[in-house]
Amino acid sequence: MVRYISTRGKAPVLNFEEVVLTGLARDGGLYVPETWPQFSEGDIRSLAGMSYADAAAFLLQPFLGDSISAQDFGAMTQKAYASFSHKAVVPICQLGSNEFLMELYHGPTLAFKDVALQLLGFLYDHFLARQGRRVTIIGATSGDTGSAAIEACRGRDAVDIFILHPLDRVSEVQRRQMTTVQDANVYNIAVKGDFDDCQAMVKAMFNDHGFRDELAVSAVNSINWARVMAQIVYYFTVGVSLGSPDRAISFSVPSGNFGDVYAGYAASKMGLPIDQLIVATNRNDILSRFFNSGEYRKSGVDPTMSPSMDIQVSSNFERFLFDLYGRDGEVVRQLMQKLDSDGGFAVNMSLLNEGVFSAGRCDEEETLRTIRQTLIESVKLVDPHTAVGLAVGDKCRVPSTAPLVTLSTAHPAKFPDAVEKATGERPALPKHMADLFQRPERMTELPNDIAVVKSFIREHSRILGTV
Ligand SMILES: *Cc1c(COP(=O)(O)O)cnc(C)c1O
Repeated sequence: MVRYISTRGKAPVLNFEEVVLTGLARDGGLYVPETWPQFSEGDIRSLAGMSYADAAAFLLQPFLGDSISAQDFGAMTQKAYASFSHKAVVPICQLGSNEFLMELYHGPTLAFKDVALQLLGFLYDHFLARQGRRVTIIGATSGDTGSAAIEACRGRDAVDIFILHPLDRVSEVQRRQMTTVQDANVYNIAVKGDFDDCQAMVKAMFNDHGFRDELAVSAVNSINWARVMAQIVYYFTVGVSLGSPDRAISFSVPSGNFGDVYAGYAASKMGLPIDQLIVATNRNDILSRFFNSGEYRKSGVDPTMSPSMDIQVSSNFERFLFDLYGRDGEVVRQLMQKLDSDGGFAVNMSLLNEGVFSAGRCDEEETLRTIRQTLIESVKLVDPHTAVGLAVGDKCRVPSTAPLVTLSTAHPAKFPDAVEKATGERPALPKHMADLFQRPERMTELPNDIAVVKSFIREHSRILGTV
């Protein structure tokens, strides 16, 4: 049975249920499975012809221990993926000979985060109902995570969700995807500040243990193990569609917090043959610099047209570092301390050269050019995040017969300005969202003042009414 250990080695070992509800480990580390479940070639072959929901139930079962029965979990994956507008859930589109797109954007908010958060919503429900508990979810968003988390939690009995976004600094589509949700347990707070102000406030609320305990505050950001776990599934299902386990596959992954591409790494650890795992970044390229030089060093964040990848440090990267150093939590702790005190650290390149990763970056001009070129050459409109994946995949690919699959992480209609600038074509919202600009909005503007934000949350959280 899989148990979960912290990357810094000092927090209690947890089971799956605890790890879903806990998020960040108490020693500041992240939880990872103690061992990787193994799938034989026969197991992988047996995925052929399965529905996405059944494949998810089959692949993820070993991570659950005895926290959930196979039957309950199967019902959960059915419900989670029924909300996707494409029958295949994660379909594949061919762009060229041996080049493919994995379309991860058919969920309710049109970005890949739905794949994990839809399932996480049902996991929360299940565990909280069983324990007779409620939680207050508080998060900061620069766009995609907020709407995906709101969609996953709307209308749920045991959850109140408060999402902070910087006033007037998210795209209109992104804002409306959050603010047009009318369920009473959803609160959008527009902060008069920038994204860093929002994130700093959320961090401070987590570090205020009195507040955190009083409101049973929980997080749904990408450090939650269940999110990474749910993302492992599509590497396998797409791999099998293209010939795994008899053929190794390469993946190019538009990356920010390193959650998505780390799930690909997990798939390879579990037995999926992967030729190359390409980490694609925009000009905020800390990950690309790391894999090419061994040095992990912070620099400022420079806004781009692929904003979901505009990050300074990647929160999930610590999980990979833990494996790189033979799962020695003490070394990870020292390196993360060095990141705080010196702004960076270096690892020996020989550790990296053996791995499955390669990495590259793509600037704004190349992003636009790739959107344009993909429309002309493959009759396919892609969003700017996907374009970064395509451009870097092209640069980093080594000659091989392995198919190259680029992860398409957002629907082009989510970033219409960039797509229009590149192609002259303004992508239309899919049918189920066509009236987004007519729906009424609901949000509360608050000053960049943590005391005001805290008292708003206190006033509206149902927890304080129930204890
Ligand atoms: C979140 C996001 C990414 C980056 O994924 P990570 O798991 O943070 O690396 C890429 N593209 C889109 C559209 C996203 O929303």
